[in-house]
This record gives sequence, structure tokens and C-alpha cells, in this order.
Amino acid sequence: MALQWISNPAVEAPEPGASPAELALLAFKQVALPAAILGRQGQLLLANEAFTASLDSKDALSRLRALTGAFQCSGEHHRSHHLGLSDGRTFCVDLAALPMGSLVTAHNVTSGPERQHDASRAALTDDLTGLPNRSWLRERLRNFAQASDNEPAEMALLAINLDRFNAVNEALGHETGNVLLKTVADRIRSILEEGDFAARIGDDEFAILIARGEQPRTADNLAMRLVDLLGRSYLVEGHLINISASIGIALASNAKTDAEPLLKKAILAMSRIKCTKPGSYCFYKDAMQQRIVERRALELDLRHALALREFELVYQPQCHLGSRQIRGFEALLRWHSAGRGVVSPLDFIPLAEEIGLILPIGDWVLRTACREAASWHKPYGIAVNVSAAQIARPGFVQQVISALAASGLAPSRLELEITESIFIGDNEAALATLRQVKELGVRISMDDFGTGYSSLSYLRSFPFDALKIDQSFVHAMLQDGSGMAIVRAAASLGRSLRMATIAEGVETTEQLQHLVEAGCTQAQGYLISRPLPSANIAAFLADYAPQGAKEADPASTPEADEAP
Ligand code: C2E
Ligand code: MG
Ligand code: MG
Repeated sequence: MALQWISNPAVEAPEPGASPAELALLAFKQVALPAAILGRQGQLLLANEAFTASLDSKDALSRLRALTGAFQCSGEHHRSHHLGLSDGRTFCVDLAALPMGSLVTAHNVTSGPERQHDASRAALTDDLTGLPNRSWLRERLRNFAQASDNEPAEMALLAINLDRFNAVNEALGHETGNVLLKTVADRIRSILEEGDFAARIGDDEFAILIARGEQPRTADNLAMRLVDLLGRSYLVEGHLINISASIGIALASNAKTDAEPLLKKAILAMSRIKCTKPGSYCFYKDAMQQRIVERRALELDLRHALALREFELVYQPQCHLGSRQIRGFEALLRWHSAGRGVVSPLDFIPLAEEIGLILPIGDWVLRTACREAASWHKPYGIAVNVSAAQIARPGFVQQVISALAASGLAPSRLELEITESIFIGDNEAALATLRQVKELGVRISMDDFGTGYSSLSYLRSFPFDALKIDQSFVHAMLQDGSGMAIVRAAASLGRSLRMATIAEGVETTEQLQHLVEAGCTQAQGYLISRPLPSANIAAFLADYAPQGAKEADPASTPEADEAP
């Protein structure tokens, strides 16, 4: 049959004398329905504008490839299919056999309120990843809640947060961060099944809504696969990046009543697992809600504590193990909360770290410790605990310089205690900061040694002045052989690396004797003294008289701190 061009002002006219093939191509390009030809191997041979605008996504193409593959094997000439996409749209797809593959034409049959949103899809789509955004997810959850009875009742929402994404973004720049997010989105898409709905709901947060399978098994399985998939290394613009994903899962056994609060619950579970065990997943439990309420109240009180002057530093003496002479003190923070009484740092430091309050609090601790130590009648050392977040903050070195200058404390009297946690993740910047601090003449020790990180290789990357052997090992020393073996190993490691070894939590003379035997150089614990207010230090020193120990000038003690 000859093709004939009938003039239409709305469409581009063909060149005069165009061949029938050119006319057909022009018609194909301009037809309003999405149309494409997929080759025998599923490759996209030709697509019109409508197809490119609506179906040229990785998700759609991979599904169409599967459909056309099966269609070609069937030997049929025509077939129609319903195709559900991960973004919530549904298309009716017609397939027609061609010599070179299949002709695909599609029309959008997305039903209900989503159809109305089709026009404003751009507003509901995340520009960077092309995934639906948070508003679209909310809309979809609302639809579930209002849906007719034939909607599936059981559904699960997985809230996904990337661990260490901010560090990557800051270290490698936003461009690289964006490429990484797109790759994460692609990995998420690749794991979806028909009908699953994935969205990007925050900077480094994603969500997947599934309404299939049996719960909680299906969600559990998906989360396990996601943790594995998203935790694999990424190669982005020549950088090998390691991040992980923390996932919270909320289940709705009745979509009509439970759909809307689902997002809140999934995010709550996600925040919980991110704090306790990043790089894994957990299901929402009602008790988490209660914990959040308590934490909010604690956070509110903590935010006012600095202004209300509710913090105090107490100082715990540290002695040389040979002479038992006092060499210095560790500053420990106390919070005298008006409503709560004395709150242990173990109960509020992790929260302060999480909400960024550790920065002003840490600054106060550093300044106060330097000022109070400078007022003591002898130049004892002063050890201050610092969190990884403080070291990561630009300007930390300046903060140390400023605390020293304001107090007049000699840098050699200050010691910063850091924990192994700073060696998890990207630590080059932290090490560079610590080197600068050390160059000022300030000492750096490793607190809670042996509890935080499995690799000892970090000991080679920084010349610590001291290793503080965690009290759990000191307490285990008399209980089993392994405790003693660990303390001996740590003491010997300290000796070979020319670092002092300070045993923490020493409570009995028996422990003290074992520590001497093991070769530790210093001790700290209730046996010597509980932490004291600064005002009580002079009285403590006047009374302090363990066998053979006299109060000596700490600056000229025979045992050098630097090299045991
Ligand atoms: P840490 O730095 O390892 O401090 C030693 C902890 O052991 C202190 O607990 C101390 O009171 C306790 N302790 C000392 N001797 C004994 C003993 O003989 N037996 C027992 N059972 N415990 C003993 P505290 O003051 O509750 O501090 C707990 C942790 O909170 C500290 O562990 C430190 O990691 C953190 N922390 C305290 N103050 C600060 C601070 O100003 N900044 C930061 N970032 N963390 C702090
Ligand atoms: Mg400490
Ligand atoms: Mg410790």
C-alpha cells in the first residue's frame, strides 16, 4: 500500500518528494503514543519522542526487554501486557512482531489519583536520581489508606539511610557525591520487583514500599539483600568508595489504617539501627517510640545545660605504677541537671555527639580543664576526652591553641584522649589534625584501647604517647587467664612502640600488683581516687600517701611519660 502525506499544520511537513519510508519514519517519530522498536537482543533500535519522555528509564527498558524476549520466543504476532513500573505508573503495552524484533506501543493506564499527578510528575520526581520524591511517596501511602478493598492489605516500607555519605561528600566533593547517589539509586532500582515503589526521601535517604509477598519474610529478605548490595564498594570517578546502608522497616498489616504512619515508623527504626548498628537493618517496634520521646526530653534539657551552667568537671588522678606518684589527672564531665540529678556522661555524650552539641560542650570542657589545671599549685598533666566529631571539625587545632593561650597552660601538660572510633571510616583528615595538635607539644593518648576497632594497623599511622587499657580488661585480669594475657600484650605493645600504658578502672591492690607484673606503666581508678572536684585536689594530694609514694614535682618524676 502506498503511503501518502496529508498536510497537517501541527506537524512537521516532509521534504517535497520524500520517500514512503521517510514518511513512515516521520509519522512514527511524531505519533503521540510512546512507540519503539526493540531488536532481537532487546536493544533499542528506534524510539519516538513520547517513548523517550516516558519510558526511557533503566527500569522500564529492562522490563520491556523481558517482555519482548518472552514475546519473540512465543512465536506470536501480537500480544498485550500490563507493565507496572517502580515509580508507580502502569502502561498497557502492545507488542507486534517485526522481522528485526518487536514493535512496542504503550499507553499510560495508571489509575486513580496518581493519574492526576501525571501532569505534575516533575514536581514529584527527584531531579538527581529520577526516582519519585518524598511527596510522591506520601501521596502513594495516602492512596493506600484510601484505596478500595482490592488493594493488597499487607505492605512494608523500608527506610534506607546511607552511612558515612556526608564524609564522602565533604571529602570528595558534591559532584562525586551526586554520582554516588545516582549509583545507589540504580542499585536500588535493580533489586525492585514489579509493583515495588522506590523513592528518594532525603539527601542520602531512600525508601521502598512493597505490597507483595508474605510479611515480615519478604521485607526481611529484601532488606538483607539491600544491606549487602548497597554496602559493596563503589567506583566513582576513580575513587573507591565504601559506604553502607542502615535500614528501618515498618509493616502494615492493614493498609487502610496503617499506611500513613508507616513512613514515620520506618524512619524511626532506621535512626535506631543507625545509632546502634550501622550497616544493618531492623523492624520498627512500639518501644522505639517511647525511647524517642525520652530522648527528645533529654535533648531539650541538654540543649539548655551549658547556658544554665549545669556542667562541672571532676578530675581523676593517674599515678606512675613504679613510684605511685601522681602524674596527672583526667578531666571527666558531670551534668548536674536540675530535673534529673547527676547524669552520667555515658548517658548524654553519645546523644550530644549525635545532635552536634558535643562541639560547644567539648569546647567548654577543653577551656575549663586548661583553666582549672593552670590554677593548680604543681604542673600536673591534664587529660581531656575529645570526641571524633570535635577532631573532624575544621578549626579544632585553633580551638586547642586558643584554650592553651587563654589559660596559660604549657602545651606539654595537656593530653587529649581519643577513641578508636576515629579510625573507622575516612581518617586521613583526622590524623592530619592530630599531627598538628601534637606538633604544638600536646600529648595524644588512645582511650579504651582494645574495645573499638579490630585492626591494630592504626597504631602505625600515628605516634600515640599512651595507650589507656580499657577497664574491662583490667577487671577481667583476675577472673580469667585471657584478661591477664590481653593486659600483658597491651603493655608489651606499648613498650615496643615506646608508648606509656595506663590501666583504667583499677579498684584493688591485687589488680595493681598484677598490672605492675604485666609491665603497665601507669594506673587510674577508684583505688587511687574517685574523680574529684578541682577544689578538692589540693586536699587529696596532701593526704595521698600510698606505700613509698611522696608528693613529688610531677614535671621531674623519674618515670618519663614519653618513653616507658
Ligand atoms: P573514660 O574516658 O574511659 O573514663 C573513665 C571512666 O571510668 C569514667 O567514667 C570514670 O569515672 C570511670 N572510672 C574511673 N575509675 C574507675 C574504677 O575504678 N572503677 C570503675 N568501675 N569505673 C571507674 P565516667 O566519668 O562516667 O565517664 C565515662 C565516659 O564518658 C568516659 O570514659 C569518656 O569516654 C566519656 N567522657 C567523660 N567526660 C567526657 C568529656 O568531657 N568529653 C567526652 N567526649 N567524653 C567524656
Ligand atoms: Mg578517657
Ligand atoms: Mg577509658
